[in-house]
Amino acid sequence: MYKILFLTFSLSILFLTAKPFEPCATEFPEEMTKWLKEHVKNNTNPVFRRSAEPYYIPVKVHIVGNDIGGGYYRTSNLLNAFCNLNQQFEETGFLFYIYEDINYINNTSLYEHTSFWGPHTFVIQNNIVSNVANMFFVNNPAGACGYYAGSIDFIAINNSCAGSGNSTIAHEFGHYFSLPHTFFGWEGGNTPGNPERVDGSNCATSADFFCDTPADYIATRWNCPYTGSLTDPTGTPINPDAANFMSYSFDACQEYFSNEQMHAMNTYLLNQRSNLLNHAPPSIDSLEKTTIIEPADGQTNLFPNFTQFRWNSVEGATHYHVLISRYINPNISNIDTVITDTTFIVTNLDPNINTYRWSVRPYNSAYTCTPPTDVSFFSTGNISVLQPEVTVNKPSCFDNTDGSIVLNINGGTPPYTYNWSNNSTGPTASNVSAGTYSVTISDVQGNDINFNVDVSQPQPVEIDFVQQGNQLNLSVSGGTPPYSYNWNTGSSDSFVGNIEPGFNYQVEVTDSRGCTGFNSTVISSLQETNKLENNIKIYPNPLFNNTDLTVKINSESSGELLVTVFDNLGRTIYNNMEFVQNGMQHIQIPFTKLSVSNGLYLIRFHKDGNEVTRKVQIL
Ligand SMILES: [Zn+2]
Repeated sequence: MYKILFLTFSLSILFLTAKPFEPCATEFPEEMTKWLKEHVKNNTNPVFRRSAEPYYIPVKVHIVGNDIGGGYYRTSNLLNAFCNLNQQFEETGFLFYIYEDINYINNTSLYEHTSFWGPHTFVIQNNIVSNVANMFFVNNPAGACGYYAGSIDFIAINNSCAGSGNSTIAHEFGHYFSLPHTFFGWEGGNTPGNPERVDGSNCATSADFFCDTPADYIATRWNCPYTGSLTDPTGTPINPDAANFMSYSFDACQEYFSNEQMHAMNTYLLNQRSNLLNHAPPSIDSLEKTTIIEPADGQTNLFPNFTQFRWNSVEGATHYHVLISRYINPNISNIDTVITDTTFIVTNLDPNINTYRWSVRPYNSAYTCTPPTDVSFFSTGNISVLQPEVTVNKPSCFDNTDGSIVLNINGGTPPYTYNWSNNSTGPTASNVSAGTYSVTISDVQGNDINFNVDVSQPQPVEIDFVQQGNQLNLSVSGGTPPYSYNWNTGSSDSFVGNIEPGFNYQVEVTDSRGCTGFNSTVISSLQETNKLENNIKIYPNPLFNNTDLTVKINSESSGELLVTVFDNLGRTIYNNMEFVQNGMQHIQIPFTKLSVSNGLYLIRFHKDGNEVTRKVQIL
């Protein structure tokens, strides 16, 4: 319970210290009062007719930040505010437009001026542009939401009172064009000597001097509808008009100026401010929305140091407001800028931010109501380094020049330029033979990368003949298998059988890439088949030092078999003649008795002019 009480107490302190701004700090000028009194006297029950063509009111916009340029009124708010203002003044027949460029001022004393006069006054005087209306957006205009300063003739607007749905700007322009508050005389807690009566009997000589604005005695913020109990001097309850822009009702209550107010503003413009009309009228064409070209919605891995933004041009648009934000609320932006072109390059996005949001809004000085594009998403990537993917296509055959090197570049900012050692200039180097090629790739930012590419080639297709009995086999190397064969005998096998001595055998071998080799041979004589080759096996192999070696022989005939063992220096260490029978049998080579050391030994078998050798490893 105590905790809750304490919390309530703390909150109320907070609310008390966060004092809301006064609605308006205008001190209505004496001269204007005099003019208006005279005007009202000469125009009893005036009939107001809006001019056929609007009067174009040039407004020099001064956006004030602190000394280091912080706290600027946002461009999106400014566009909304002008759109809003022109809707509020449509009946009056005034069309406000942004005169030339926005003037940004960095000055803390002006940004936060708690009193009407001060050092900031000189800053204002130095920035005033003549023959146009001057409007300064600041963080604190003398503790109020805004004011019109008659002595220097400018409007100051509180940034926080110039959002959507606010009417402070319309109110201050009311002052600018001669309108007092509807409760004129009651400001600052004063009571006027001649309060306006509810019955209208003194309407032209009291308060705001207008007879179509009811008696209003309320000089503080009030909510509509009026529920107070104030009465006029006759005791009649007042019924102020909350919808009038010149009252102090909440902005949401305000909707219009009265006919007499509009008549007075028009007359004041033509009589006292005709200099505003000495400018070429702006284009007032309403504008379509634009559409985004790039980055496309959802595009990823954009180069953070050189991101190009493009959108479609809108007919009649002179400016495009671009917002780029890494926050969910795109109004909290990293980049908030106005572009006169339809393309924009950003060089300082964060490479490690997953998602950015951006939008574009076209406008011209007099039409600021076009909404921005829907928020579009993109993401950057840390890809500032050029990353080539290299594909080498070897020449098809040895010594050919039909190879190529194909590059695909990631990272950097296209377009890329290529400078090859063979004078190629594109991403592909063609007509390449085996060798080493160097290439330098540069992007438009001047990032470059240089490297070598080695191009190998297939070995030539080489053919050797291996005669085996009455068969001629081929031993093919090089090229790219598989091979196909074309003999002058008409055969396409990898061998020819039943060869004949004296015949010149010729063969062309073609590999899988069309490379060819050629060879020929004349058979001198047929070789006998080595009858031992496939019929002798030795085991175990390797052989342990304390073991004899077994020879398994399948002989085609009985007879003598000479067995010779050589050591690794070629010395004979065993030589023995064995008698073998026709058929399968085993014989022993007594290594246990040869006192051999470990190593490799060669065993030669010889029978009937045929000879084979076997190797045995002693461990
Ligand atoms: Zn005011």
